[in-house]
Amino acid sequence: MAFEGLAERLQETLTKIRGKGKVSEQDVKDMMREVRLALLEADVNFKVVKKFIADVKEKALGQEVMKSLTPGQQVIKVVNEELTSLMGGEQSKIAVAPKAPTVVMMVGLQGAGKTTTTAKLANHLRKKHNRNPLLVAADIYRPAAIKQLETLGKQLNMPVFSLGDQVSPIEIAKQAIAKAKEDHHDYVLIDTAGRLHIDETLMAELQGVKDIAKPDEILLVVDAMTGQDAVNVAESFNEQLDVTGVVLTKLDGDTRGGAALSVKAVTNTPIKFAGMGEKIDQLEPFHPDRMASRILGMGDVLSLIEKAQSNVDEEKARELEKKMRTMDFTFDDFLEQLDQVRNMGPLDEILGMMPGFNKAKGMKDLQVDDKQINKVEAIVRSMTKQEKKDPSLMNASRRRRIAKGSGTTIQDVNRLLKQFEDMKKMMKQMTGMTSGKGKKRGKG
Ligand code: GDP
Repeated sequence: MAFEGLAERLQETLTKIRGKGKVSEQDVKDMMREVRLALLEADVNFKVVKKFIADVKEKALGQEVMKSLTPGQQVIKVVNEELTSLMGGEQSKIAVAPKAPTVVMMVGLQGAGKTTTTAKLANHLRKKHNRNPLLVAADIYRPAAIKQLETLGKQLNMPVFSLGDQVSPIEIAKQAIAKAKEDHHDYVLIDTAGRLHIDETLMAELQGVKDIAKPDEILLVVDAMTGQDAVNVAESFNEQLDVTGVVLTKLDGDTRGGAALSVKAVTNTPIKFAGMGEKIDQLEPFHPDRMASRILGMGDVLSLIEKAQSNVDEEKARELEKKMRTMDFTFDDFLEQLDQVRNMGPLDEILGMMPGFNKAKGMKDLQVDDKQINKVEAIVRSMTKQEKKDPSLMNASRRRRIAKGSGTTIQDVNRLLKQFEDMKKMMKQMTGMTSGKGKKRGKG
């Protein structure tokens, strides 16, 4: 999971201040020293860190008092907001040309994931925006690239425009756009050539393609795993080509997060998408606010709900959302949710979005695999109706009975009960934090 170290350290630091009824200037200073170290260790650009710390300090000390939050929570709110703004603030969407087709040029170094991302993006545009893209194979130097795009196109049942590897990319781009107009495609996605390093020949060629294709969007694909290198690559590409957006790939890996947190601040180019795995549907629009919440352990309920909405029936998803928001959440809901979660995708990905589930103490030993989930399910199913509604009933003898009934141990039962409580607590905190002023807290 990306950001693991950073998330852990930030959350540790923030936990110390969270419950405080009074926050002194010294408290903020102490906290910010730790936040600074955490960011530097996560490979965030040092200039970016410096500015971030200064901004948070100023806002945390100068802010108005809000009734609905404790002073500690307010500081966390500021960190959350600044982290969001560091990554670009508002979500930045892919361009739409006033007159079709919208031309998107994909650029990046070899191995960053450019070809894969081109196909993922086509899939995204069709699935989420009802578009009809034409894929263009203009990477004529990497021998496998054209074949790779054609294979992906076949898998998606989408046309791929190619003229082999003997025609110049500029000519390919020109003919592809003409073809797209003829066949009424509304997007043209051009997979250009990458190199191992940035060099003049590459840039000159990309400039040539740009001149002829007049792209509405130039998306730079960078590998998040390469940290500050990714940021340097972005800077160079941007200087030469005026990139309009960045796609960060491999955010599913254990990147420390430096690239995600620095790229926008250093290059002033927004991150538009994040690659979350090798599969064709593992590309997500990048939401700075959600990413910040995820890093701070406040969960990413919105992404979770969107996933739920596209994978389970809407009625249930709405119910789930309401319950999560109002904390009217029992073990029965939990069970139902487990079933739905199974349909949604890789469990650790899903659980990572749930507030508290990812990082709260005692949860790290929760191995998220199906076997564990089956165990959890068995425990919940061994509870009585009453117990499911009100876990506080659960005394030692009940716990023993449940462990026996589910073929687990008392420790397993205890752990689950603790996790459930922690999860509810985190949900509550999160609701308090994201709702701003005066919103009624649910019972919980
Ligand atoms: P290109 O040279 O830039 O066109 O790179 P490719 O598209 O061939 O991708 C290089 C490798 O990175 C391939 O093995 C991809 O499957 C992998 N890859 C691309 N995007 C992601 C991602 O978001 N997550 C993971 N884990 N792997 C990715």
